Amino acid sequence: MRRFVFDPERRDGEKVILSAAESYHITKVLRLHPGTGVEVLDGRGGVYTAEIVEVGPSVVVRLLEFREEGDDAGRVRLWLGQGLLKGGKMDGTVQQCTELGVSRLTPFVSNRCQGSINDLRGRHKAERWERIVVAACKQCRRTTLMRVDAPVDFTTMISQVDHDSGTLRLIFWEEEQEFRLHQDLLRPGTIDTVCILLGPEGGLAPAEIAAARESGWQTVSLGRRILRAETATLTAVSLVQYLAGNL
Ligand code: SAM
Repeated sequence: MRRFVFDPERRDGEKVILSAAESYHITKVLRLHPGTGVEVLDGRGGVYTAEIVEVGPSVVVRLLEFREEGDDAGRVRLWLGQGLLKGGKMDGTVQQCTELGVSRLTPFVSNRCQGSINDLRGRHKAERWERIVVAACKQCRRTTLMRVDAPVDFTTMISQVDHDSGTLRLIFWEEEQEFRLHQDLLRPGTIDTVCILLGPEGGLAPAEIAAARESGWQTVSLGRRILRAETATLTAVSLVQYLAGNL
């Protein structure tokens, strides 16, 4: 059955009004009619069978049966801090991270990012990333939406992550000579969240690495070759998800 995502705030009893993007998809792209059976997701692991009641710019569906299909429960959560990438590269990263099961993505602005924080914080970007997350969830049948935060500066990024023993904080740095990912880092039962940071195209400045290390972040190598920023992110996310048992 076709799947759509709804915002739980737009629920009124057994009826839900879908977003403009989901409504467009139903009405103009798929040309579904009232009475068609669909599944709708609340983005938090809840899945409903439902029936389309009205089509048009604001599609209304009636919720029928509910089931919990959470894909986040009991697993190590991966939080990615990503130095803002240029152009469409950030869009690709949002999509791939959703497919790979990242729980939360915080874009950050660092010394070598191109563009000012105000340019980069545009509302339209947040809305586009939300649409990408929804489309990727539907495509890969993920039921919990990846959270995408508004961009923050690098100092906020490194200080906002818990320093407790259940959180592993890793910063991927091409100049790290020794420390690599390994299975013992993520022994079951010891870690509930892994937060990883990856720099933008120009990398992270030495002063940023020093500040992160000073507050307890571990620098990690992905090998001797310097990877393009988006390759490094895809590799780091895949490896951490594998070590965490999430792939
Ligand atoms: N500063 C570098 C330069 O311009 O030569 C390259 C930065 S690299 C393109 C972008 C990001 O990818 C880095 O900030 C880092 O997080 C990650 N990265 C790339 N290669 C890496 C490696 N071999 N080990 C760890 N991280 C790597």
